[in-house]
Amino acid sequence: MIINVDGKITDETKACIPVVSEAFLYGFAVFETVRTYNKKIFRLDDHLARLFVSADVIGLKSKWTFKKIYQIIVDTLAESKYKNAKIRIILSKKHLVVTVESLKEKPESFYKKGVKAISYQGRRNSPRAKTLADSFLYLAHQHAKSCGVYEAILVDPRKFYVREGSYSNIFWVNGRHLYATNKNILFGITRDTVIELAQLDSPCDFEGIKIKSLMSADEVFITQTTSGILPVVQIDGHKIGTGKPGPVTKKMMKAFDKLVWGK
Ligand code: PMP
Repeated sequence: MIINVDGKITDETKACIPVVSEAFLYGFAVFETVRTYNKKIFRLDDHLARLFVSADVIGLKSKWTFKKIYQIIVDTLAESKYKNAKIRIILSKKHLVVTVESLKEKPESFYKKGVKAISYQGRRNSPRAKTLADSFLYLAHQHAKSCGVYEAILVDPRKFYVREGSYSNIFWVNGRHLYATNKNILFGITRDTVIELAQLDSPCDFEGIKIKSLMSADEVFITQTTSGILPVVQIDGHKIGTGKPGPVTKKMMKAFDKLVWGK
């Protein structure tokens, strides 16, 4: 892993921030996970714009500027030779940490056969912000893992509306029409990309959906930076549609692959 702390490439064993930093004490910091496709960074401007939205939402004023962060990311990435890299950017009041590591792609079977999910009740404090102090997401994801499934679908505990995944956004299809949730979620960069791609063909509608209705949708898929689009074929043990990736999901995956891989 290549690590850059406050603008300097640092050995992994020596990379540190002060223990008195609010980032360490309170998780008062925001972050982004970005990836490259064939050495090209995907939508870095959008990720950095969201980093600053996250900072605004929690009232974090950092000394690091958009331009400086951008340059540090490009410089850190240049130190690596990874064809497909995962880049993490953590921004606090005083500190900036950028890490670059090789991105392990998900197994082919996840895309061909789909993945399973479980529902998980609870709420994030600041849904529009990607902050370190969001252990709820971590716990939701750990729960999914302990149940042997890929993702936890976050469900509002009062009225059972679906929000997003612990690290992904949710889309569903009914009668060949594409829908996405729009309220109290993180606006994913992959989600934006899918919405833009759908615009060219059959535009996506934004609606609230309860978990029970999601389970009876024709198709469900999730989107996230590190894996793009993943079909969801089971939620809480209930089969979604035919139990296989559906035609609209496959069409969106094809369009997405063409955009990011050029094939
Ligand atoms: N929602 C949450 C809560 C997330 O952590 C993520 C991952 N960043 C997403 C949605 C998906 O966003 P993106 O497509 O930008 O990775």
